[in-house]
Amino acid sequence: MEKTKKDKSEHKALAVSTFAENLLKPVEFASKDDFQKIDTVKGLGKTAERIVREMGGAADFERWDGEVKMLGGLFSGYDSAPREKRRSILEEARGILLKIVSGDSEADLSGAEERLKTPVTFVKGVGPKRAKVFEKKGVSTVEDLLYYFPRYYINIRGVKKIRELKLKERAALVVEVVVAGEKFTSKRRYKRINEVIVTDGTDLMTLVWFNAPYVKGRYKVGMRLLVTGIVSEFNNRKSMAHPDVEPWEEEADQLGSDIIGRYQLPERMRLMTVVKIVAEAVDKYSDCLIDGVPEDVRVRNRLIPLKEAVRIIHNPALPPEGPKDTPDIEDGSWLPIRSVAMDELFIMELGLLLKRRKIIRSPGRSFNASGRLMEGFMENLPFSLTSAQRKALDEITEDIRSPRTTHRLLQGDVGSGKTVVALLAALNAVEEGAQAAFMAPTEILSEQHFKNLEGRLAKIGVKSALLTSSVKGAEREAVLDGIKSGELKIVFGTHALIQEGVEFSDLGFIVVDEQHRFGVMQRGALKEKGKKPEVLVMTATPIPRTLALTVYGDLDISVIDELPPGRKPVKTLLFGEDQRKSAYEVILGELKKGRQAFVVYPLVTESETLNLKNATEMAENLSSVFSDFTVRLITGRMKGGEKEEVMDRFVKGEVDILVATTVIEVGVDVPNATVMVVEHAERFGLSQLHQLRGRVGRGGDESFCILISDYRVTDDAKRRLEVMLKTTDGFIIAEEDLKIRGPGEFMGTRQSGIPAFRAADLIRDYDTLLTARAEAEALIEKDPLLSDPAHHETRRVLLSRFEGRLSLMDIG
Ligand code: ADP
Ligand code: MG
Repeated sequence: MEKTKKDKSEHKALAVSTFAENLLKPVEFASKDDFQKIDTVKGLGKTAERIVREMGGAADFERWDGEVKMLGGLFSGYDSAPREKRRSILEEARGILLKIVSGDSEADLSGAEERLKTPVTFVKGVGPKRAKVFEKKGVSTVEDLLYYFPRYYINIRGVKKIRELKLKERAALVVEVVVAGEKFTSKRRYKRINEVIVTDGTDLMTLVWFNAPYVKGRYKVGMRLLVTGIVSEFNNRKSMAHPDVEPWEEEADQLGSDIIGRYQLPERMRLMTVVKIVAEAVDKYSDCLIDGVPEDVRVRNRLIPLKEAVRIIHNPALPPEGPKDTPDIEDGSWLPIRSVAMDELFIMELGLLLKRRKIIRSPGRSFNASGRLMEGFMENLPFSLTSAQRKALDEITEDIRSPRTTHRLLQGDVGSGKTVVALLAALNAVEEGAQAAFMAPTEILSEQHFKNLEGRLAKIGVKSALLTSSVKGAEREAVLDGIKSGELKIVFGTHALIQEGVEFSDLGFIVVDEQHRFGVMQRGALKEKGKKPEVLVMTATPIPRTLALTVYGDLDISVIDELPPGRKPVKTLLFGEDQRKSAYEVILGELKKGRQAFVVYPLVTESETLNLKNATEMAENLSSVFSDFTVRLITGRMKGGEKEEVMDRFVKGEVDILVATTVIEVGVDVPNATVMVVEHAERFGLSQLHQLRGRVGRGGDESFCILISDYRVTDDAKRRLEVMLKTTDGFIIAEEDLKIRGPGEFMGTRQSGIPAFRAADLIRDYDTLLTARAEAEALIEKDPLLSDPAHHETRRVLLSRFEGRLSLMDIG
């Protein structure tokens, strides 16, 4: 774009867009905050006409011929026009000017995108005050308004009569208040009851609020109300408890639609106000919505364009014939919702696939290892790999040997034997002279990896070391030196591995164990320490199918879906606090057989000191109950060395009962332990419980998981405990967990990488997600660069909507 400042007479050298920019300034100023300044900008029409005339002399006038003419026509007579007229002129002019200003070949599109980013204050009816309130609901641009979907619909023509109402149905009524009052009662659980009795001429109905003092005085006799709620019965009369109530506004009649959306109301805004504001935004801006889904895909899947879908969602018309039912906005198969959801899911899948493609294409290292070290190591193993382990190992070594970059997730239930698979794979890089890093989330786990593997590695001539923050002084120096010189081939460690001062000679392979425990940044930091290292991330938290296609959509996935032979499923028992004795009997039985037990204490209170006290008391208590046995406490507070000592003694069998705060949660491997006691089991999440249970049942003997819980627990907690009793299958547990918690929380919001969807629901819309995935794959196959003009819009949407998140989801 030409922007040089020259003498005004030399208009030939200037671009139309330069003038457009000049004109845009006063136009925007006058339009701001719901046109509050419209009267203060004097002579705007005259100025505009002059600028438009000057455009006629610009170098690229021909290109904008039509737009310039339109602008000229718009502003003639502006100065003397009434306020309303001037408003609509400004609105239209602004659209044209934006289009010119952003005017490259994709003018239509980028203009549209910019228009969507228009602040809400440009919408009629929204001044600075309302804008603030809207902002609290996450609405700051017109695009947000377009996606501010109703929670449900009210059929205002088809409002029911009280007499026709059936119990439990959701209904909308127009009624008049007959009695409004407040009652106090001490007999019932509810102390204060606000009752409003209403009628519509057919019958009386009671609206009830329990303990809602704000209702008092709000409704007066004679008031007309629009009431929506679920019909129930109260004192032998039809009633609704805590209904949604609007003052009935005759304006609703003038909307010209039978159905109005019931929006969530921003503070102190009436429903009709919100309806009108949204309608205005839809009217003026919905045309700017660009489809991410290409037309042929849309047609094939019988979807409608985004702008149409959004319009219908805000203003659905009842079919002229057929059932007079209001649509259900939570129904994922309703065409407009399905269309918007598809748009979101398609773009997400497309982005993930493109990213994966880019990673795979980017040349990684190819280690042409013969497999000599790998085989040598296997010979010394006391067991042979399960076929699932073998398959996963083949997949990973294939990656390592090929020039494409490894970017793989190894998924396998607790105890399925991921560690050995990852290590064997890493030996291929080591054989070729590179180093491997094994990063685990806790010191205990790193130590365990190191201790279990160091000796066996030494046998095949591979030097390894441990690096955690407890490795200090001269020892640390020696390890750092060995890493730098390349003498140390495999380094086990915690996030200490990514700290400054750790310099690898040639880091070629990275294993991240229990990867969900690490943030994206930490994984990235380790990768920085090598030259295009291959990355293998491991998780024992099974990824439900839906999430495998979203959060990990850019990774290749290997699954170990088989446990080593001879494992018996852990027996899970739930005991109430008052059945503690029975629980202890189970423990005692096992201890007498020479087995060991874990007792895990959750972080119960906010205060660490108190937790410690709880765990400490528990340890003391158990010491006296099981006085013939050794009980030791391990907590997160202990210094590295001390922890190691306790853990060591437990591994050696010198400690019988290990009482722990959750430090043992992940990965610890003590086959002789056959009892896992979880105190306050209701406070743990499902995946944590599953992980804890996975600590036992590794030795081939029957093992027990004892959940001790209060009876008074939340519904969610009850569901979690039930799932634990019902199944030991990690995948089922993960699916249930996802259902209970929802996707964002499931992955932990901090690193979830799951975009917030406006219409899509990952659980409900699984079928749409599969379609989106398949269509995105097909599109990339056909047109990987999205260079076909038919895919330009898709590319634009992808870039604007997804790019920020692409880097966030960079797992390797
Ligand atoms: P996870 O997948 O939970 O990380 P680990 O790698 O810690 O599991 O393995 C759990 C236990 O199973 C370890 O003691 C390991 O030595 C053992 N193990 C691994 N593979 C096999 C196998 N094929 N046969 C028997 N035991 C195995
Ligand atoms: Mg493990």
